[in-house]
Amino acid sequence: MLQNALHQSKSYLKEIIQPGDVVVDATAGNGHDTLFLAKLVSESGRVFAFDIQTEAIQATQARLQQAGITNAELVLAGHERMAEFVPQNVRAVVFNLGYLPGADHSVTTESTKTIQAIEAALELLLPEGRIVVVIYHGHESGKIERAQLLEFVSGLSQDRFQVLHSAFLNQQNSPPELVVIEKKKSSS
Ligand code: SAH
Repeated sequence: MLQNALHQSKSYLKEIIQPGDVVVDATAGNGHDTLFLAKLVSESGRVFAFDIQTEAIQATQARLQQAGITNAELVLAGHERMAEFVPQNVRAVVFNLGYLPGADHSVTTESTKTIQAIEAALELLLPEGRIVVVIYHGHESGKIERAQLLEFVSGLSQDRFQVLHSAFLNQQNSPPELVVIEKKKSSS
């Protein structure tokens, strides 16, 4: 079976993340990715995880505590403010867009802020670092976010970044899609 977008996102992260790295979970949600990242960077590395909902930060906190993880910093703030909290030389940033499963569906990521956050992340990223975005577009605002996001990443400088878009083309239920942005080696 071909891997779905979520699995693909993890493969693209795993390929490059090393113990000791600084990485970012831009949408902590229930904390699955935060935990995944914390294990990859090990105790010598650091994970910064953002969410605007207390509920999400608490769920993430609980998940990390249960796993004995101490190298994650949870930030109750929008990812568009990433540069205020995260140092330079980040290896990877992951976004899982949309709404928190099981919570208020009206609280979703928004294209303007998502794009602002990606712009900030592009500057924090190490050469050969990656931004991995899982796009959920089954809901109305998700369709708008998808369109604006694809337009934005399509316009990124070819000299500085490689941009990949992965989508299943013959499925009727709007399965999540993936975008990966890799900063080129020679780029600053
Ligand atoms: N759709 C995914 C989960 C997405 S969770 C799935 O089904 O598995 C998305 C998270 O992003 C939510 O917890 C939400 O609170 C958070 N979020 C929304 N806007 C945000 C922002 N500006 N900054 C950080 N997190 C945000």
